[in-house]
Amino acid sequence: MDRQTTPDCLIVGGGPAGLTAAVYLARFRRNVLLVDSGTSRTRLIRKSHNYPGFAEGVSGEDFLHELREQATQYGAHIENGRVERLEHREGAFRATYDGRTVTAPMVLLATGIVDEKPALPSLPEFIYRGGVRFCPICDGFEAMDKRIAVAGPLRKAMPKALFLRVYSKTVVVLPFDREVRVSDKDRARLEDAGIPLPTEPVADLDTRGTIIKATFASGRSLDIDVLYPAMGPTCIRSLRRRSGPKATRSAACSPTSTCAPACPTSMRPATSRSASTRSASPPARRRSPPRTSTIRCRRIIASSPGAASPSRRVLRTLLRMRRNLRRICSSP
Ligand SMILES: Cc1cc2nc3c(=O)[nH]c(=O)nc-3n(C[C@H](O)[C@H](O)[C@H](O)COP(=O)(O)OP(=O)(O)OC[C@H]3O[C@@H](n4cnc5c(N)ncnc54)[C@H](O)[C@@H]3O)c2cc1C
Repeated sequence: MDRQTTPDCLIVGGGPAGLTAAVYLARFRRNVLLVDSGTSRTRLIRKSHNYPGFAEGVSGEDFLHELREQATQYGAHIENGRVERLEHREGAFRATYDGRTVTAPMVLLATGIVDEKPALPSLPEFIYRGGVRFCPICDGFEAMDKRIAVAGPLRKAMPKALFLRVYSKTVVVLPFDREVRVSDKDRARLEDAGIPLPTEPVADLDTRGTIIKATFASGRSLDIDVLYPAMGPTCIRSLRRRSGPKATRSAACSPTSTCAPACPTSMRPATSRSASTRSASPPARRRSPPRTSTIRCRRIIASSPGAASPSRRVLRTLLRMRRNLRRICSSP
């Protein structure tokens, strides 16, 4: 049997999730093929300090490299490419990538999410320098005592801002809402935390210098050291899945699901040096709030009836671990 064209499990996505699954499955002596298109969010991490065991910190690239080494050491086969199509036929999955076809009884989708971002010029540089951050749990510590702003719709920005008060006494909310309305309960929470009451929408985020300058609708402006967008993530649904009742059931990320389209435009460099946040506003409201953990957990695994049960058990355990982690990570 050709390990690469008929693996026991095909893993789509080679970020930490897919690579961790590859390590586990390979150690369970499964033939694993992992296909990755190389856009892991981890690549954006200049240095992370919250991975257990890396006291001096680790860059995203190095971390991925180590995970790749570990997976291949146990026999996982890793290929670069984008899986364009996934079909369920005659009890197996057929995936197509870069003109090649692979058949597997089990597929694990670890295609990650995309952070929605304001369409700011120089955004990649700001992210790399730590001027724009996404996950306060991951790196709030590194924003200690800085002037922090959280930008996004108030209902998303407020909880993040409240959490960030752990790290700095200077935390402000930059609302994207056209009308800024704060309930009495939220007003009390903000006052208790010492966060200025947001009264007007932010109109502009200027990234010309080394710091970000926020300008409100009234013209008032404010300098920021660290910006946390709070616009939510979207899951990647570039993969076209076809047929097969099992495949369809597990593919929760369908056009009718709660996932908004991934937002590659947000990474496009804008032409002007200063971008209006109006153009950067999140797309039309989703039909219901994104429940990332549910979506990801339901869509991560797709198995055919003939799939080997030990692999299923492994994958279920991974799913549970992932669900718990996501619950923790999505709380603030
Ligand atoms: C700026 C920044 C800083 C961060 N800092 C930290 C930190 O300090 N600590 C921490 O714990 N976390 C941090 N994170 C979060 C961390 O990067 C993510 O939690 C992690 O990358 C998620 O892993 P994943 O495998 O689920 O998805 P990803 O890492 O996004 O990987 C998904 C992979 O799937 C691939 N893919 C997608 N579609 C296809 C397809 N059709 N075919 C083939 N491949 C496909 C993509 O190319 C990508 O490589 C940070 C994130 C960002 C953006």
